[in-house]
Amino acid sequence: MKIVALAGGIGGARFLRGLRSAHPAAEITVIGNTGDDISLFGLRVCPDLDTVMYTLGGGINEDQGWGRADETFTVKEELGAYGVGPNWFGLGDRDFATHIVRTQMLAAGYELSAVTEALCDRWKPGVRLIPMTNDQVETHVVIEDEQGRRAIHFQEWWVRLRASVPALSIAAVGAEDSAPAPGVLEAIEAADVVVLPPSNPVVSIGTILSVPGIRDAIAAKTVVGVSPIIGTAPVRGMADACLTAIGVETSAQAVAELYGPDLLDGWLVAETDANVHVKDIEVRSRPLLMSDPDATAALAHAAVDLALELKETQ
Ligand code: GDP
Ligand code: CA
Repeated sequence: MKIVALAGGIGGARFLRGLRSAHPAAEITVIGNTGDDISLFGLRVCPDLDTVMYTLGGGINEDQGWGRADETFTVKEELGAYGVGPNWFGLGDRDFATHIVRTQMLAAGYELSAVTEALCDRWKPGVRLIPMTNDQVETHVVIEDEQGRRAIHFQEWWVRLRASVPALSIAAVGAEDSAPAPGVLEAIEAADVVVLPPSNPVVSIGTILSVPGIRDAIAAKTVVGVSPIIGTAPVRGMADACLTAIGVETSAQAVAELYGPDLLDGWLVAETDANVHVKDIEVRSRPLLMSDPDATAALAHAAVDLALELKETQ
């Protein structure tokens, strides 16, 4: 079986670990979000790709959900001693090595997809991880504070400001001129089913879908998504701030409507959200918390089962 999954960071990566254990024989291709990417200290940092790679490769800091296990911060402290920032973005020593390798390869002319493949040679994530695009797409957020109305990088809003200043709008800058990375459309085309993990619907899944060609290719397949929202709140994190910015209510119902029946065939919601109903989307309720490996694998299994069932009837 060939499965394609889209993925942001923590929610996507955890789900993928469950998917891999639920379907060990499946060929899984992951299309990763690069809208969160940022250049810091002259280094190209790809937080979502790395979260997927470290999580599936066994190098993740489990409690935090991002960054490396057994991390130290000597380089960051030394940079700080020179007065060189930003100090609000946590880059550990082990993590720095990844960004140095990536930046060196990019400078030598390799595309991000080739660089990602090279990094995955070490981590062996057990899936094929492809960035959504090799072009630069950056998520920017328009805010208004004492300094007036301005656009800042998503990471500055999310990590430095903890999304505490309302986002007036969110844009994937460069998306309309970007192209899917080599292999992305081919993998979707060849997929038996496509799954959307409970990643952020705006700045993870939404950004991937904004790369021209990807949404249409996915819409042509049998697609099942998992809600990142239970009741009126994200399971983890601040995705509600992103939904509010684009005028969408924080609920499993509203996120399914945002994706729409042209994209989604099936939608998994929490048992407490069993009343969700969207025309032309098959909604099923399941335990949605990825609290341990077994629960996560069961959730991934349910998503694929529903997709296979719906594919039969299409
Ligand atoms: P990020 O890039 O690190 O923000 O991660 P993602 O975009 O992949 O995922 C963030 C989303 O994952 C958040 O909106 C959470 O609500 C969701 N999430 C995290 N843990 C769980 C879980 O156990 N179950 C479900 N259903 N969603 C989760
Ligand atoms: Ca992210």
